[in-house]
Amino acid sequence: MTEELFREDAFARQCDATVVALAEGGVCLDRTVFYSTGGGQPGDQGRLVLEDGIALDVVDTVKGADGIVHRLAEGGILPAVGVRLRAEIDWQRRHRLMRMHSAMHLLCRAVDCPVTGGQVGEARSRLDFDIGDARLDKEAIEARLAQWIADDVPIRHFWIDAEELQARPELVRTMSVRPPTSSGRVRLVEIEGVDLQACGGTHVRSTGEIVAVSVGKIENKGRQNRRVNLILVD
Ligand SMILES: [Zn+2]
Repeated sequence: MTEELFREDAFARQCDATVVALAEGGVCLDRTVFYSTGGGQPGDQGRLVLEDGIALDVVDTVKGADGIVHRLAEGGILPAVGVRLRAEIDWQRRHRLMRMHSAMHLLCRAVDCPVTGGQVGEARSRLDFDIGDARLDKEAIEARLAQWIADDVPIRHFWIDAEELQARPELVRTMSVRPPTSSGRVRLVEIEGVDLQACGGTHVRSTGEIVAVSVGKIENKGRQNRRVNLILVD
């Protein structure tokens, strides 16, 4: 299995690694900084740089049977097992995803209704809520997000036992996403005093780093379901 460096350090942009398995259209490494698709966050893109300087483009990152699969651009070479290389993520893209993912946790709290689905994107993200009889006020949600961003609230992660999570089901905010577990432990992401939930994603260090977001369309997805779109402002 791949050592997931991004779970402990979302700011690691590159690492040295060794190819340990070939997978469909890509390779598995012994360790990686590439986030693999999951929890509503897309997998990283970037490149694998071989010792002779040749760079192979990674177009997507997903979970596979032998670890994290770095999918390579079609038609390129596939490095053999045992090859040493440097794995470098497309940092500009990843940092946008981190800003968006952290903003999505704020949105969870701003709306404060059960989440039924969601997707993080580079420029635009969405969360679906079961709002029951509540009414959503776009301006009010936007104002709460702006206030939390202005407050520059620290964001950190830590691990708890899976059993402890079972005793605290309120920590699982997104009903459609199973919380990531690793050898009996579950990762939690805390936005100090604002939000705490199970999440395996990559986040910025504090809410100020999000810079700014705006609330896009609030779409009707059934009688009690609303889709709230969030747009990253540069
Ligand atoms: Zn999350």
